[in-house]
Amino acid sequence: MASGKGKGQASLALHKVIMVGSGGVGKSALTLQFMYDEFVEDYEPTKADSYRKKVVLDGEEVQIDILDTAGQEDYAAIRDNYFRSGEGFLLVFSITEHESFTATAEFREQILRVKEEDLVPLLVVGNKSDLEERRQVSLEEASSRAQEWGVPYVETSAKTRANVDKVFFDLMREVRKKKMSESKDKNGPSGKKKKKRCCIL
Ligand code: GDP
Ligand code: MG
Repeated sequence: MASGKGKGQASLALHKVIMVGSGGVGKSALTLQFMYDEFVEDYEPTKADSYRKKVVLDGEEVQIDILDTAGQEDYAAIRDNYFRSGEGFLLVFSITEHESFTATAEFREQILRVKEEDLVPLLVVGNKSDLEERRQVSLEEASSRAQEWGVPYVETSAKTRANVDKVFFDLMREVRKKKMSESKDKNGPSGKKKKKRCCIL
């Protein structure tokens, strides 16, 4: 949807988000549902790709850049580069696969290690909420884990589109909030990340 030409696109705020999680949890399906309003059932599982879209976030026109990761994250160097480039993370698991939930802890540690920050904008996303009858991860279990981590937990369905916009927009809000607080207390010469003072997610 490359419409707006005239207006200085370069001046739009750009929020970079990364889809992280085990294979098969629906990272690509969520991304494509958000981007194109369609449910893609058979997206190439090993394909990582990035997407950009102009959206209106609380009245402000911004751009979202989504990096949909795939198997390459197994290579630590590639993964670290991906994670370093991200400003916000959707940490996705499938509510129908407990193992994918367990895996979120490891992914989160990798993210925190690479970002070297106390506060990384992140949402835990329990996808495939339409498959309630196959649920292996209870709402309580996932919520309490997210609470421990001080981040929100949201259940989505890339199939029905439930909460799909919500997770991307909520994450962009977290990213924006962090950038605003950084630009306020940024005195150093570089705009580079520093150990951040804590604030509530
Ligand atoms: P990825 O490896 O994390 O990118 O996972 P994919 O997006 O490729 O999805 C893996 C499989 O799960 C595909 O067959 C999708 O159609 C299916 N899938 C993804 N999200 C959902 C969902 O919300 N509900 C249902 N029922 N199936 C989903
Ligand atoms: Mg994929």
